[in-house]
Amino acid sequence: MSYVDEVLAKVKEKNASEPEFLQAVDEVLNSLRPVIDANEELYRKEAILERITEPDRQLMFRVPWVDDKGQVQVNRGFRVQFNNSIGPYKGGLRLHPSVNLGIIKFLGFEQIFKNSLTSLPIGGGKGGSDFDPKGKSDREIMAFCQSFMTELCKYIGADTDVPAGDIGTGAREIGYMFGQYKKIRGMFEGVLTGKGLSYGGSLARTEATGYGLLYLTKEMLKCNGKDIAGKTVVVSGAGNVAIYAIQKAQQMGAKPVTCSDSTGWIYDPEGIDVALLKEVKEVKRARLTEYAAARPSAQYHEGKGVWSVKCDVALPCATQNELDIEDAKQLVANGCFAVAEGANMPTTLEATKYLQENGVLFAPGKAANAGGVATSALEMSQNSERLSWSFEEVDSKLESIMVNIFHNLDEAAKRYNVAGDYVAGANIAGFEKVVDAMLAQGVC
Ligand code: NDP
Repeated sequence: MSYVDEVLAKVKEKNASEPEFLQAVDEVLNSLRPVIDANEELYRKEAILERITEPDRQLMFRVPWVDDKGQVQVNRGFRVQFNNSIGPYKGGLRLHPSVNLGIIKFLGFEQIFKNSLTSLPIGGGKGGSDFDPKGKSDREIMAFCQSFMTELCKYIGADTDVPAGDIGTGAREIGYMFGQYKKIRGMFEGVLTGKGLSYGGSLARTEATGYGLLYLTKEMLKCNGKDIAGKTVVVSGAGNVAIYAIQKAQQMGAKPVTCSDSTGWIYDPEGIDVALLKEVKEVKRARLTEYAAARPSAQYHEGKGVWSVKCDVALPCATQNELDIEDAKQLVANGCFAVAEGANMPTTLEATKYLQENGVLFAPGKAANAGGVATSALEMSQNSERLSWSFEEVDSKLESIMVNIFHNLDEAAKRYNVAGDYVAGANIAGFEKVVDAMLAQGVC
């Protein structure tokens, strides 16, 4: 049995109840076969794959808080510190009722390779809770965030582990968590990223993931003889990543015509009105029905459906496994020629394979959405220097990081004779740097 198959079997046996984690490991290890096969003896002796698929540590803790009725509620908190071979653990905190250990492990595992791809010194980690921020008052959100950080603060620090936002964790939640960390630890340090501008946040962090997605997509199209300008784009999600992806796509002359949330989706043939979308989602924290009510050209549909709209480029920006094989078939039948993942693992393995086999340019999330964590690392640099860079400075660094990521993965794919397979290219390029550091640091 090959080394990859041997480790895949062990990982399946040890993590049988974690389908998302198994899916992520399956994708990464299978696409790494050319590198592993070329170094099988050394990697097997050093147990590289066993070590890279087992987190350094996984923390799980009780988060008690009091709701507005005086009732005590209890949630479960997580932080998975996966691999710090190239820098302090770095990765967001997801607040969503679907969160469990397997989801945090899949996200932490992906984060190792994503962070490596940015070429910045950051290791992989992820955290969160099954707390549902929807419908909670500001006071309830604060009570939860303070309780969550009361426990988490024992394990993180500016040079140890630096969490950030993710689904359900935006500027408000980061602010409450930062305040609690500061109070308990008595330290004002860059322990979280995605902070407000008045207390150490970076300009362009809010926009970074969505903007970065478009910088990478534009470069991928350019290198394949195509131009993003004038193209019709379908986007899923209506949160941080989706909003700024839509905004940057418009700035590049493309036309995004859809967005979605967990209850329904919008088709707006005139192009999405970003100012209105921000008002509905960022200010009122309301449903997309409010967007449709205020915009005569928009059609609102219940449920799922953005992938049925005819487009040139598709950008899944909501959540994992939101684009399945049927969606992939519909996209191909409608002439879509590029898919770039704004969310983490939004495309199922089967759908990814179908898209690639049908000639669709496919940029995986660990490359395409790395702009968020890259800009978080730039926030860490500014915090260490006690400086704030201008929006233009951060944005231009972000753009060159995304362009570099694309060329690194393109080059890695060509080097291993899988040219055009950007999934393999991203995994290989991310893996090589981490393994080099692991080997240099000995058995630890
Ligand atoms: P937000 O919470 O800001 O937005 C998430 C959006 O996706 C919302 O519109 C939400 O709808 C929708 N959504 C979430 N869960 C589901 C679901 N189960 N079914 C359908 N729709 C859903 O999160 P972000 O925009 O920050 O994150 C989106 C994705 O991008 C995630 O995969 C995240 O891990 C990834 N990502 C985020 C980065 C960042 O910097 N924020 C960086 C890199 C990756 P509703 O409001 O109704 O729940």
